[in-house]
Amino acid sequence: MPETSGTNGGKAAGPTASGARIQLENLTKIYPGNPGPAVDNVNMEIKAGELVIFVGPSGCGKSTTLKMINRLIEPTSGRIRIGDEDVTDIDPVKLRRKVGYAIQQSGLFPHMTVAQNIALVPKMTGWPKAKINSRVEEMLDLVGLDPAEFHGRYPRQLSGGQQQRVGVARALAADPPVLLMDEPFGAVDPITRDHLQDELIRLQHELHKTICFVTHDFDEAIKLGDRIAVLREHSHIAQFDTPEAILTNPADDFVSGFVGAGAALKRLNLTRVRDVGIVDFPTAGIDDSLESITELLRSGSTNEVLLLDPNRRPYKWLRRGDLARAKGTLAQAGTPVHDTVTRDATLRDALEAVLTDSAGRVAVTGRRGEYIGVVDMETLMSNVHQLLEADRLDAVEHRNQLDERSTGRTQPAQEGLDA
Ligand code: ADP
Repeated sequence: MPETSGTNGGKAAGPTASGARIQLENLTKIYPGNPGPAVDNVNMEIKAGELVIFVGPSGCGKSTTLKMINRLIEPTSGRIRIGDEDVTDIDPVKLRRKVGYAIQQSGLFPHMTVAQNIALVPKMTGWPKAKINSRVEEMLDLVGLDPAEFHGRYPRQLSGGQQQRVGVARALAADPPVLLMDEPFGAVDPITRDHLQDELIRLQHELHKTICFVTHDFDEAIKLGDRIAVLREHSHIAQFDTPEAILTNPADDFVSGFVGAGAALKRLNLTRVRDVGIVDFPTAGIDDSLESITELLRSGSTNEVLLLDPNRRPYKWLRRGDLARAKGTLAQAGTPVHDTVTRDATLRDALEAVLTDSAGRVAVTGRRGEYIGVVDMETLMSNVHQLLEADRLDAVEHRNQLDERSTGRTQPAQEGLDA
């Protein structure tokens, strides 16, 4: 039976089931009492391991399409295949093992602890207790939450971002090959949303699930999607392509309207910090002696160090001039680090962080917030110039092609006139 990948989770070595292909065939939903279909005859193939975004205006049928994949909404007609299996008629409980589901405001059960919430589907599936327990710890670690600290907490004791992380951990707990996400980051503040998006990208690098993600935010779509399905009413597909292709060649006015202004700037969302050149920077521990830090700054090799807290997280930028104010302790000296980015943050996130930080650079951190390196303004600007230059060359080429075509068309007419 092809249905194996959803049941092999919980191994000590970590999650192993990577994604499965999804095929939607003539998928249609007509809600009782509604005159027309909410989703009309959708055909789509999502490759194994791909992260596909459904984006489109409110009411166009994104959620309905998504929820038909795990049959939270039963299709009126059409078929759904996951891997090689037609799942249109299988037992929904069996389907839940193949398809994880994460939604806005996390959807956690408030009367259950974090651990109980995450254990839900493995328990339903009948996993042995020890396997469930170790899986819960593993999942918390995977989404960047300390198992010892968060295991026994209730959802109300978590921030919005932490709840969302637990929601993702729960969706992944039974190691499903497919993950559906319905506006999962829609209800959190913009900074938390950025971090959660980065986390999802990191997770996907590790897990290679097949992910369908619904959003109405085109910037989010560009940042996250391997491919984006731009949907119009009734989930009709206006364009289904890579973010690059949609930004540079929108299929029609509807897609252009959705892309909005500033396509060149939106391309900043396509480049990751990991691709722009992270460099090392002199660091010192906050508990290091003032003498050794002074020595480091006076040695001539640098006039600034990044102070790290005991967990090696960026804490303060300290310049040589700040030492005068230190007076035996570092408590008052230096400039606190306001913002950091991860390796999966976009060029745009990094630029924003650098522009709002007087240091002219931003520290790059790992999954637990630990220091990895820095990216500076110069590096970012040279990447922006390269992007804009590539855009300019594209535009010139496009104009030349149009000129060639119009010359080709006008030539015979002129000849006709001359004759
Ligand atoms: P989106 O996710 O793109 O905002 P939905 O899939 O939620 O769109 O809705 C698509 C259309 O179906 C809308 O016109 C909506 O009003 C209608 N609809 C959604 N859910 C129901 C329902 N349970 N009963 C009747 N109509 C619904």
